[in-house]
Amino acid sequence: MEEEKKSCPSAVCDEGAQVIGIVTAQGTVNFLSQPLPVTKEFIATAHKGRSPEKRFRFSNRCAENGCRQWTGNGCGIIEAVMEQSERISVKIRLPKCGIRSDCRWYYQSGADACAVCPLIVSDNYEEQKYIEK
Ligand code: SF4
Repeated sequence: MEEEKKSCPSAVCDEGAQVIGIVTAQGTVNFLSQPLPVTKEFIATAHKGRSPEKRFRFSNRCAENGCRQWTGNGCGIIEAVMEQSERISVKIRLPKCGIRSDCRWYYQSGADACAVCPLIVSDNYEEQKYIEK
């Protein structure tokens, strides 16, 4: 039987996406219990400031083989984070998240994914550049 389609919990701000969380000033994500649709107006407004992926978390259909993070049988992002997660000492109660029933990361790593998920900001390119210097 074919696996049901999953939702990517770290998608870009684009048509068809949903807002699933808001990045706080502390850099963690507050999840919405009910995802909000991303409208054209939202996209236009969100792109005026800092990258929307720095300020929100979005979900969209998991593209599987169409995504460069796909390893062939799963999402490489959550695989990599789970490998590092033993070094993450912050314990977080599982967020009330509106996409858990079809979330790719939850499907792969269960509640352990949800425990680290609020620490993940989709666009941290600038911070990575700083860390790597
Ligand atoms: S990993 Fe858990 S908290 Fe994160 S988006 Fe998926 S279901 Fe929600």
